Amino acid sequence: MENFDTINTVGISAEDAFKVAEASEQSRNFSTDIGDISVGLSSGTSGNRGLFLNSKKEKAIWVGAILDRVIGFSFKNRKVAFFLRANNNLYESVNSNLLSFKFFDIKENLKDNIESFIQIQPNVLVAQPSVLLEIAKYMEHQNIDSFLSKVISVAEVLEEDQKVYFEQIFGCKIDQVYQCTEGFLAYTCKENNLHFNEDWIEIEKKYLDTDKTRFHPIITDFLRESQPVIRYELNDIIHEGKLCTCGSKSTVIEKIEGRSDDVFEFKTTNKSVTIFPDFLRRAIMVSSNNILNYALIRKGKKLIWLHLESRDITKKEEDFKQVKKSLDQLFLDFGIKNIIIEPFTLDQDRSSKFTRIKNEYKKSI
Ligand SMILES: [Zn+2]
Repeated sequence: MENFDTINTVGISAEDAFKVAEASEQSRNFSTDIGDISVGLSSGTSGNRGLFLNSKKEKAIWVGAILDRVIGFSFKNRKVAFFLRANNNLYESVNSNLLSFKFFDIKENLKDNIESFIQIQPNVLVAQPSVLLEIAKYMEHQNIDSFLSKVISVAEVLEEDQKVYFEQIFGCKIDQVYQCTEGFLAYTCKENNLHFNEDWIEIEKKYLDTDKTRFHPIITDFLRESQPVIRYELNDIIHEGKLCTCGSKSTVIEKIEGRSDDVFEFKTTNKSVTIFPDFLRRAIMVSSNNILNYALIRKGKKLIWLHLESRDITKKEEDFKQVKKSLDQLFLDFGIKNIIIEPFTLDQDRSSKFTRIKNEYKKSI
């Protein structure tokens, strides 16, 4: 972003691009074109906002890729509901005779949005897991039978326990799209595996551990021209999966663990200890099967906040005790003592990305 003006090939300054994108976010009128180029704004990694540019040609390629890999072609008329932080006319360009899009702005009242979503009865739902969770809970509590034939999870990490719950409530497969400012990176194939779009994106792997199980992808996108992406390292922690039987040879993502910013690092007397988010997730999920959602935030050197949402709310206190015990044990196993785990209630700003494991203690140790 610092060198946006020199990197883009269409002569648009970051200042102008931000102006256009911000004005459209404020007015919630989402036409953001400068000449032939459309401008998008993303929350980006590390909370920094990112600009992305698309020419008409790039937009057409993106639409083709999304139709082919995500929505799937059909001669049936279908309604697609999109829950998004901000619209970009990139999404609206998918509108056609066969597909109609309804855009729900997640900055507006979510309950009203969910009610109008249910009235419309779309065939396809696209939203981030934290919004899917609210829709699923609403449908479960109101005893509403699912009318969906496809659900696509975007923007945040979709975890296995959530996926199982969504499949149960929505009665269909949950596909994933892994997309960021830097492009449409991966999609779920018919065998249910998440593949990198390696037919037009080069993925180099920068391994993070000696076992070579986790890596940061370094991406080069051969189809982006207006804003080239060349050997750009993402902060996401990827686990590589096995070769898929669907016919595609492109790399399978077993899971996206989270971002490297959210790794918990501690210092013991003689060494520094790294705890990847997966260890924390596992410690929480194995302690009770009554947990619907949670968030764990590191607030200080020894201080961690824990938010819990229990399926059966009468057992919430018991769940908290169990989770705390399990986390204490995990920290002890890593040789870390005296961690304070305090309860807190998450007041989520839906316009930002929800992360279950978060590190807000950024001080380097
Ligand atoms: Zn596959």
